[in-house]
Amino acid sequence: MTGNDRTDGGPIGPRLGVLIGDGIGPEIVPAAVAVADAAVAAAGAAPLEWHPLPIGASAIDENGTPTPAATLDALAALDGWVLGPHDSAAYPEPFRSQLNPSGTVRRHFGLYANIRPAVAFSGARAVVPGMDLVVVRENTEGFYADRNTVAGTGEFMPSPDVAIALGVFTRTAVRRIAVTAFELARRRRRRVTVVHKANVLRLTMGLFRDVCREVGRDYPDVAVDDLHIDAATVHLVRRGADFDVVVTENMFGDVLSDLAGELAGSLGTAPSLNTSDDRAMAQAAHGSAPDIAGRDVANPIAMMLSTAMLLEWLGDRRGDAVLRDAGYRVHAAVRSTVVRGITTPDLGGSTTTSGFTAAVVAELAAGG
Ligand code: NAD
Repeated sequence: MTGNDRTDGGPIGPRLGVLIGDGIGPEIVPAAVAVADAAVAAAGAAPLEWHPLPIGASAIDENGTPTPAATLDALAALDGWVLGPHDSAAYPEPFRSQLNPSGTVRRHFGLYANIRPAVAFSGARAVVPGMDLVVVRENTEGFYADRNTVAGTGEFMPSPDVAIALGVFTRTAVRRIAVTAFELARRRRRRVTVVHKANVLRLTMGLFRDVCREVGRDYPDVAVDDLHIDAATVHLVRRGADFDVVVTENMFGDVLSDLAGELAGSLGTAPSLNTSDDRAMAQAAHGSAPDIAGRDVANPIAMMLSTAMLLEWLGDRRGDAVLRDAGYRVHAAVRSTVVRGITTPDLGGSTTTSGFTAAVVAELAAGG
């Protein structure tokens, strides 16, 4: 039996929120939903139950806010969510200056770990062929001053010509993200690289590095090294295929994961999962790509693989091997579609978003 049991005895699949978002969201989120449904059917798992909820620019128009309280309440009752990208930089004031939708959801639910794989596909061009790493990004504090305080914001202007931002680093938050990274490394190639800037930010980044190193002593089977963020960018370009798990603070993780995604082929292939100990949200690492929105050219791979990560996470939590298998099937079907030369323009191909999605769905239906 998979999932929970219905009163009529049939299995029910996870109840998932679906938040379309802005820009390319209406193209890539339905693509990810279609592929997840096809994978679940192919694996023989109970069907997913999708719950569309408002967020982003359309929610400003209809609900007067990009992140309605009713959306947060509804999410709390669901098993997980798929969040499309938001174009918060284009929102009208006062919304543009407020915490953006994904920051709001992450903060509301304490989603402290942002797991961001960057994997090169065979058959597609990549600056660093063979890249297969995961950036584990601390998601709640660091230098993101719009979300690192309990009240008010850690960014302020005492005068029109002076702007100040606070960075926050706590032993508790660093410890839990380090544990996430080392546990993940144990299921991979057993290497963790701690990325920081402790040579300049001696106290804050020093705490981050030292607590990660302390946690590492509980994992003698995992090799640890550390790099300054500036050197890390060089090593990623020069020898990106050597990295396994990279753990770093909020802002560095945001930047480094975009770089890693692009080096692996395209930012459009870079997925992510935001997790706490008991909740998870699938969300592509990239933004709303307004420069290509509405043209059916966006790469839906990041959104598809983020959703696959959510299925795997739920499968692990529920002890549901069939649901986990559905997630693996998405990865496999995307890989074999790319190997067949079917890719969107960012990976060098000429397939549309909808054409790529149809090819992955067909691959899943064929049992691939
Ligand atoms: P972006 O990530 O949207 O785009 C950067 C570049 O990558 C663009 O050239 C874009 O076309 C390309 N790209 C991104 N996703 C792609 C895909 N799936 N397929 C092909 N190409 C893709 O970054 P930006 O332009 O700085 O930001 C645009 C908006 O997105 C801004 O409002 C920003 O605040 C927001 N944003 C949202 C998130 C999020 O929702 N989590 C993350 C980053 C940025």
